[in-house]
Amino acid sequence: MRQPLPESRAGSTEMWRQWLEKRLAQQRGDGLWRERLTMSPSPSARLRDFASNDYLGLAGDPRLAEAQARAARQYGIGSRASHLVNGHYDIHDRLEARLAELTGRPRALLFSTGYMANLGVLQALCDSSTRIFQDRYNHASLLDGAALSGARSRRFHHSALEDLALLLSRAPQDSLKLVASDGVFSMDGDRANIDGLTALCQRYEAALMIDDAHGLGVLGKNGDGCVGQRYSTQEVPILVGTLGKALGTAGAFVAGESLLIDTLIQFARPYLYTTAQPPGITAATLTALDILHDEPERRERLHHHIAYFRHHGDELGLPLMNSDTPIQPLLLGDVERVIRWSDILRSQGFMIGAIREPTVPHGMARLRIALSASHTRDDIDALLDTLGELIKRERS
Ligand SMILES: *Cc1c(COP(=O)(O)O)cnc(C)c1O
Repeated sequence: MRQPLPESRAGSTEMWRQWLEKRLAQQRGDGLWRERLTMSPSPSARLRDFASNDYLGLAGDPRLAEAQARAARQYGIGSRASHLVNGHYDIHDRLEARLAELTGRPRALLFSTGYMANLGVLQALCDSSTRIFQDRYNHASLLDGAALSGARSRRFHHSALEDLALLLSRAPQDSLKLVASDGVFSMDGDRANIDGLTALCQRYEAALMIDDAHGLGVLGKNGDGCVGQRYSTQEVPILVGTLGKALGTAGAFVAGESLLIDTLIQFARPYLYTTAQPPGITAATLTALDILHDEPERRERLHHHIAYFRHHGDELGLPLMNSDTPIQPLLLGDVERVIRWSDILRSQGFMIGAIREPTVPHGMARLRIALSASHTRDDIDALLDTLGELIKRERS
């Protein structure tokens, strides 16, 4: 028979309950409560999706689903083990080789998610004697990776190279230094000044890490991203790309020279201690890379949409930000305004991310509009019309 819990154990449960309830109440009180939306594959009414990172419209492409199903039948649904036990298949090798080729790097290594790739790189390369410098607006996974590594991490003001230079100049000369930046900033849509970053990193002998989650597939001549073939492995020795955005699948990779990849295979805990990517996802990603190569018109359509949206958005007086990427946020400022706009847009059939603190700084809440090659000109016109109405209503 089960023994009743001793008094002290029951007491500790009560302490936990109070602690968690207090934090949730605080979150609600601060207006920061987060709700999940439950999507379904066949929404009854057509919802215009301006919230996804599916920039090329590949996530719903039947050719990817077919490739996934075929590989799943051949290999099994799961990979059965981690890469270093027996979960690493020939199809993983093939995708790694293709990703290395696309980005002009000697090698690439697959990770299960972009979050884990960033944790893995920083944890494997850095320890308490390392100095990490990162852009204040970097993705949370880079901030968390720095914490996991135990390195001393400093954040420089967003894209402020003079601030970074000052921090680098103050670090001990003989210390190992790593500078990390998003290539395209996920909540702002602007790009890092990679020329400036490579110059500073050379001057201070720091390694440069660029997370190109939002550039890969979208920017560059062949969709090779904002680093890709444009910067050598020496200039940008650590390149991270994700597969769940423009490529429409899931997972991520790190690309660079063998020394980097071998280090990650030996030491990156988020690589070692997780199940290898399901082979079907790997196969679907290979198909996505084929489409990226064979259908440049998707990228062209997306860039036309971006230019068109910005041109007409500017005419309407929308609070556009400095972005030439598919991420076109409207900086509305306070949370209530963002929620009001977002609710109205939702009722008109538009799905748009309402972004607020702590994801962005206080007072800089925004609607994060994400454009995609799968949008039609009609979709964008309809969005512009509704946004124009909202602006007009506020002014009157
Ligand atoms: C989305 C994103 C990630 C995380 O990638 P996942 O594969 O979704 O875990 C990392 N970095 C940046 C800049 C991102 O936008």
